[in-house]
Amino acid sequence: MNGTAVPWFQGSRALVVGLARSGIAASKLLLKHGGDVRGVDRRRAEELEGTVRELRDLGVGIAFGSTEPKELEGRNLVVVSPGVPLELPIFREAERRGIPIVSEIELGFAVARAPVVAVTGTNGKSTTVELLGAIGRAAGRRTEVLGNIGTALSELAEEVPEDGLLVVEISSFQLESCTRFHPRVGVLLNVTPDHLDRHGSMERYAGLKSRLFEFQNEGEYRVQPLGDARIDLLLRPMKSRPLWFGFADPTGDGVWLEGNTLRFRFEGRSGALIRRDEAALPGPHNTENMAAAAAAALAVGIPERAIAKALREFRGLPHRLAAVAELDEVRYVNDSKATNVDALKRALESFTEPVTLIAGGRDKDGDFVSIRSLVMERVRHLVTVGEAALKIERSWPDVPHDRAATLEDAVQIARNRTQPRGVVLLSPGCASYDMFRNFEERGARFEAAVLELKRSLMKARR
Ligand code: ADP
Repeated sequence: MNGTAVPWFQGSRALVVGLARSGIAASKLLLKHGGDVRGVDRRRAEELEGTVRELRDLGVGIAFGSTEPKELEGRNLVVVSPGVPLELPIFREAERRGIPIVSEIELGFAVARAPVVAVTGTNGKSTTVELLGAIGRAAGRRTEVLGNIGTALSELAEEVPEDGLLVVEISSFQLESCTRFHPRVGVLLNVTPDHLDRHGSMERYAGLKSRLFEFQNEGEYRVQPLGDARIDLLLRPMKSRPLWFGFADPTGDGVWLEGNTLRFRFEGRSGALIRRDEAALPGPHNTENMAAAAAAALAVGIPERAIAKALREFRGLPHRLAAVAELDEVRYVNDSKATNVDALKRALESFTEPVTLIAGGRDKDGDFVSIRSLVMERVRHLVTVGEAALKIERSWPDVPHDRAATLEDAVQIARNRTQPRGVVLLSPGCASYDMFRNFEERGARFEAAVLELKRSLMKARR
């Protein structure tokens, strides 16, 4: 148990910055523990009125439309919601005045009763936390998957009992304002270039990821990839016990793929978990996600049998290499969540069939040239969309391509360009904001276009 009867933030005079779901949960937790709470949000009152009314009724003073430094008057704690940029002047001013700034996660963590497993990395977080959720439930433990988007840790931390499990997805943005958080198990999946625009440099970004392990003690665990020299170097000084995941026997404790079998070794026990082909999740990256989740599960005392059952039954998440339909012996796959080059690379590695790739969108300074040989090997035809179209075409000059004006056109073109036993893959390698609200909308539009195509083909054949 992390939670003590009196959490460190008891009776704080707190300013909560950002009043979306996590900020509201944090405010309530502070109030419950005798806090005096003020909240600020840059949105206008009308936009927030419904959601924050309850806080107002509880006596929280709220300032809308501004995050002015004057709000710090009389405060001795600043709580940051995920997604609020730490560059705001209010944080600089808090630092200057010596007021501690903490992430909402820290509050939840302080009162958590169940062990916390925290997952971070560039790609695979959502898949891995959902897998862990399925594993915890298969073991009959009350398991909650929290963090980042969705339910906040501070919303449920007190409610889940000691024998439950709290699985938290945590982004490098949130780690930036963590100063105590030490999960029972921290999982670092991978570190590849993404979000460099916000974090400045790869080194700084990697450093933030290692923050997850910085406050752990000797009895706690870190799950890390086998054979990543940079992560090794970063994590070697940490006190926690390493658990490895990857594609070779780590000799130490961990979970790895050997031939077609996922094997484990943990504190004196070892054996097979499942055959890789028993699991539905495709691709080597999902082997990594499964191995990482299994290793974390072992560390919180979940029996092998429950882990194996969940790995076998887990179907994956929408928009992550999700099968949409098969038309004329061509499979259509939606990987709209691939918003960076590494995710695109992992998608291509997941297919042995010739791929017609639909890629493009808003470029995040992606190095498309770096995967040129893989693309030449796997991609038979390229259909580009969005702002990054020209950059992508130029990065892979030997791959035949068409440019599409809309995603619907792209699906049509891809159909015409793809032979039976091929795959049409939407894996953009870019953000969606140039044409869509978010990756979910992009994926849904792709799926709708594929299903529309299916309907028209069936009609024509009747
Ligand atoms: P996140 O929550 O970290 O964004 P997701 O599980 O939503 O991760 O996956 C994001 C994208 O990255 C998807 O396109 C998915 O296929 C790909 N992906 C998933 N796991 C990994 C991994 N271990 N390494 C690289 N790419 C991955």
